[in-house]
Amino acid sequence: MKIESLLKYQEVDGQLKKLVSAINQSEESVKGKKLGAFLKESEDKIKKMDKRADELNALIEKLKANYKQSTEKLVELEEGVGQAIDKDELNYVAKKLAELTKTIAGIEKDLANAIKEMGDISTRYDDLRAKVPSAKAQYKECRAKFDQLKKDKEPQISALKQQLAELEKQIDQKMMAEYQKVRGQNIYPVLVPLAGNNCGGCRMDLSIGEIGKLNEQGYAVCENCHRFIYKK
Ligand SMILES: [Zn+2]
Repeated sequence: MKIESLLKYQEVDGQLKKLVSAINQSEESVKGKKLGAFLKESEDKIKKMDKRADELNALIEKLKANYKQSTEKLVELEEGVGQAIDKDELNYVAKKLAELTKTIAGIEKDLANAIKEMGDISTRYDDLRAKVPSAKAQYKECRAKFDQLKKDKEPQISALKQQLAELEKQIDQKMMAEYQKVRGQNIYPVLVPLAGNNCGGCRMDLSIGEIGKLNEQGYAVCENCHRFIYKK
């Protein structure tokens, strides 16, 4: 029966899948991925913090300059109060003084906020920077262990791939292509036994046509999930 070779192929394919997933789910792989993500994230955060610190530095400089200019103006206006020649001028100077006092208070507030944010960034920055070297060392260690694990498993993987290549020669090309198409969607097993009158994979009812094919050629292809259905 045509399906027999493909069933054998699937069995070896399953062994390969199991081996590859054991490598990918190994402690060194999982831990290495986490560390790699942490390092990438830290790098991004550090870059962002650097950028924000530059912005804040520029802002603080600007605010300080504004503050200096405004306080100088304030002294000038205060002198103007004594020199006002009439009530109108006095009122005008007093109004300007009030405005400037408000402006200065605003600058002081902005400056305090900018300095506080700068301090917060600095703390977070130092904290993160302190964690990076040890994470880098651990990452390197994990990578080395993972590479070793892959190297150790390589002969087994090669042997299985060799077996698959041999088995493939006995399988109808069209069937093989169909199998790989489904398998490419990370579906396993691709070949499932008939369950009652349903597909053993997605449980969809088989049409009369498909049942006919199943009886005639020993297998049918599920119209829903495209798995191969065979009779046990
Ligand atoms: Zn199905």
